[in-house]
Amino acid sequence: MRPQILFQLFAEVRTLDGVGPKLAQLIGKAAGPRLVDLLFHLPAGLIDRSYRPRLIDAKEGCIATVLLNVLDHVPRRDSRHPWRVRCSDDTSTIELVFFHGRLEYLARTLPPGTKRLVSGRIDRFGSRLQMVHPDYMLPPEQADRLPPFEPVYRLTEGLPAKTLFNAVQGALARLPEFPEWQDAGLVAARRWPSFREAMAGAHAPKRLEDLEATSPARTRLACDELLANQLALALIRKRQRSRKGRALRGEGDRVVRARRALPFALTAEQERALAEILQDMAAPDRMLRLLQGDVGAGKTVVAMLAMLTAVEAGTQGALMAPTEILARQHFAALSPLAEAAGVRMQILTGRERGSVREQILSDLVEGRLDIIVGTHALFSEDVAFRDLGLAVVDEQHRFGVHQRLSLQGKGDEPADVLVMTATPIPRTLALTAYGDMDVSRIMGLPPGRKPVDTRLISSNRLDEVVARLRRAIARGQRAFWVCPLVEESEKVDLSAADDRARTLGEALGIEVGLAHGRMKPAERDRAMERFRSGETRLLVATTVIEVGVDVPEATIMVIEHAERFGLAQLHQLRGRVGRGAGNATCILMYQPPLSELAKARLSTIRETSDGFVIAEEDLRLRGAGELLGTLQSGMPLFRLADLAVHADLLAAARDDARLIVEKDPELASARGEALRVLLYLFERDEAVRYLRAG
Ligand code: ADP
Ligand code: MG
Repeated sequence: MRPQILFQLFAEVRTLDGVGPKLAQLIGKAAGPRLVDLLFHLPAGLIDRSYRPRLIDAKEGCIATVLLNVLDHVPRRDSRHPWRVRCSDDTSTIELVFFHGRLEYLARTLPPGTKRLVSGRIDRFGSRLQMVHPDYMLPPEQADRLPPFEPVYRLTEGLPAKTLFNAVQGALARLPEFPEWQDAGLVAARRWPSFREAMAGAHAPKRLEDLEATSPARTRLACDELLANQLALALIRKRQRSRKGRALRGEGDRVVRARRALPFALTAEQERALAEILQDMAAPDRMLRLLQGDVGAGKTVVAMLAMLTAVEAGTQGALMAPTEILARQHFAALSPLAEAAGVRMQILTGRERGSVREQILSDLVEGRLDIIVGTHALFSEDVAFRDLGLAVVDEQHRFGVHQRLSLQGKGDEPADVLVMTATPIPRTLALTAYGDMDVSRIMGLPPGRKPVDTRLISSNRLDEVVARLRRAIARGQRAFWVCPLVEESEKVDLSAADDRARTLGEALGIEVGLAHGRMKPAERDRAMERFRSGETRLLVATTVIEVGVDVPEATIMVIEHAERFGLAQLHQLRGRVGRGAGNATCILMYQPPLSELAKARLSTIRETSDGFVIAEEDLRLRGAGELLGTLQSGMPLFRLADLAVHADLLAAARDDARLIVEKDPELASARGEALRVLLYLFERDEAVRYLRAG
């Protein structure tokens, strides 16, 4: 249960004075539905009203505050013309311009013959200075009502800046002083403001530096958020560790037989990763290990050998893939190994139904199956194992933390868990998503893989690209053509892909396959399948192929509007080709002119094929928010911390979290109580459930 001290903050914004249903909706769109969301909606800019020029010196386009004599009103001629109020100081004249608003109000606010302190944006209209809808028009004696500085917030259409500002002020007024959850020594040493002071300070910037992630207020808030993140992970982790594991050790006979059936030898990297995994499995603790490696690095084979070891130890193995097609791909690739090793393996996805499914389920629970490969269908409640020893999740960054945890609940005996990810998550980010999960990495690719020849080509040269495709397809090659993400609208994406498939079909005179996220999965799988079998030789797709098929014959990847993709995404897409024997090409088409940043990013992709280098570079160039955005589920998005800047704070938060969990595992001390509030404030409630009632 959420602590009472937080009730107010988790109230909806419409509980604020002056916020009705309509405004609440707009605020919800800009910041979020609750007061806490308003607090976390930090200013993006700053208005400085301290610029007080004489009119003759006033710079256009600047916010200025001027003391004016009100001369006269020029009423509007008709509804298309504005109402104008002429004013002056000793040096020049200016017109205040109003396109709407009640006239009595204007007459009352700006009586001719008086002085008014007016603040707003100075513009020039022809030769005249003007100010459209000034922000402030005050009698000089009320000058203290003019804030010298005002935060600027990201808004949404139809939401006035002042309304959002007032709402944030309302939320701040309801922010209580919390007990200190940070380490007292740290707070003293760094001279940190309290959370409440920091929040108030972050919303009251006075200089541009105050808006920076490194400002004291924002640093403190970032530390709080990171601590909540790391503490939650540490608590979950501790609870996993405390559940008894068991030693899974095999004689190695099945593994040896499977190895013999492999047409290649494992690389040193694969051997090292496998040894780490087997060592964990042999230990009596529960394994929770991340197997990281680039697309095509050879993780699956390593996972298979680990599952075979689990089978040797008398238990079962499960391999979960994020999509049906990947599950089938794994199943097909692993079947020869299973056969060579003499283990019984089956596949279970949404497609296995009725009596087939019944049979698989009973085989599984009665132990007639050793290994099961499947999709999230394996998470269903009616799926039970006789004795699940090792669960492998091929995450490909599609599963969330939730599923990752729920699969550990399967079976009476706690299973060891191996999560495979092809996402080249930089260390800093891995830490936020997995905490101190053990990590094995397979660096590099198996031998014999040639790097994909990567080129940048302007979209003006579309004809050349098409001509090149024509030649390649005539030679029997296959190609992917990826269409851009256009803003957030899937509809627009769709028509772009549709149109492209049609025009390419016409230009090349061939049948073109189409796969996109809006298609029914079965339909999409069919399109992929036809491409894989060679029935179609050109597949136009949105990014759904990112985690898609392995088609060794595909040697060309064309990506339109490459500048709009995340680097990690481009890298994953490129990884779809160059898996077979032929030389592969990746054509990154861009819309000129490219910004410097876009140029730097695309050059990174062209120059390296190392996913980790690319990910680190992406993080450096773009900041964590966007990078995380492209990683989809499973990665926490931070609201106050900016990992591109605060990465060093993350390590400190992790160390602190470890210490807390060691010294006060139930968060029972006074600081522990405060930390519970912190966890709830940042909505890491899940972790609190792992504590004993309290
Ligand atoms: P990942 O799961 O890491 O994306 P896979 O396990 O699918 O990669 O391996 C990609 C391809 O490389 C597969 O066709 C696999 O058989 C092959 N492969 C794996 N390990 C080696 C190796 N040591 N030498 C040569 N080929 C390998
Ligand atoms: Mg794979």
